[in-house]
Amino acid sequence: MEKKILMVSTASLLSLLLASLLVLSEFSVAHSREARREQMESLQLYASYGDPGTGIGIGVRRPQLSLELPKGLEEAGVSVENDYRKRKVILHIPEAGEDYLDGHPFVGRMDHIKGIRMEDGLLELAMDGVYEVQSSVEGGWLHLDFLAPWQVYETIIVIDAGHGGSASGDTKQQVMEKDLNLSIVRRLKSLLEEDGGSIGVYYTRTEDENPSFEQRLQLAEAVRADVFLSIHCHSSGDGQMSEENGTEAMYDEEKEDGSRQLAEIFLQEVSNSLGSKANGLFPGNRDYVLRSSRVPAVSVAVGYMTNQEELDKLKTAEYQGRAAQGLYQAILRMAGSQ
Ligand SMILES: [Zn+2]
Repeated sequence: MEKKILMVSTASLLSLLLASLLVLSEFSVAHSREARREQMESLQLYASYGDPGTGIGIGVRRPQLSLELPKGLEEAGVSVENDYRKRKVILHIPEAGEDYLDGHPFVGRMDHIKGIRMEDGLLELAMDGVYEVQSSVEGGWLHLDFLAPWQVYETIIVIDAGHGGSASGDTKQQVMEKDLNLSIVRRLKSLLEEDGGSIGVYYTRTEDENPSFEQRLQLAEAVRADVFLSIHCHSSGDGQMSEENGTEAMYDEEKEDGSRQLAEIFLQEVSNSLGSKANGLFPGNRDYVLRSSRVPAVSVAVGYMTNQEELDKLKTAEYQGRAAQGLYQAILRMAGSQ
């Protein structure tokens, strides 16, 4: 990771420096302090392009963006929250209001940052994509680095709990598919968080909400996911209760992007963990999300809500936990083979 940051060429550093100087001189001529005040929400108000005094020169790693903290503020007093679904980084820095920022602008580079604004005492940095934010406090300065997911992680996965919000998916005996999907995904999230590590995981939703298909797909594209994994539960063709049961995985049969191999892994691990019948792989080209995904995509149907026995199991924490465990094993297997 460190290496990649250091691989910035001399030429690009020089051109950055030149560009910064140009911006700076243009800026001070064209904008008076009053004019800047009028652009309260603009990037320029809170940012200048100076040197944060953290080591200039080629080969010395400089943080992208730095802010001098109000006197006496320790690292513990600062919080940095990365809301990647909204492409926003939210900074809570006590006593760093508009007046403070006017006298202590951010210094560094604005790469990937579209705007900085103050909202309810919080500083919001609008990003042009999804980044991993690395923050540190040193010598009274807050330093922020914004790294692309693929600079940080070997394996990247987007996990999608199907449906949500007003889209409940199938409903059987007051059980809504969206809730089963989310519950399984939350259990999977806990497993992945315990492990931490080299797998970058992003979620299309962790609450009862319904992001659009485009938002779900764009997240997978933005992070360049190795797989977009959508979690669902199934129903029989006519929606009636039936004997039909078991686990299935779907992928777009018209793509040769590794989706099929991944679908196989997910099907095996989930049905093993559940002890359910593995019904096999199903063609998913007719599914809008699978067809439109620009990264390998798999949809797992954990079990049938139209089978009474399976529905009763799907409702339990134990069965949901085993589904999550199977998905988790599949992710580890997938990561290990990359
Ligand atoms: Zn579904």
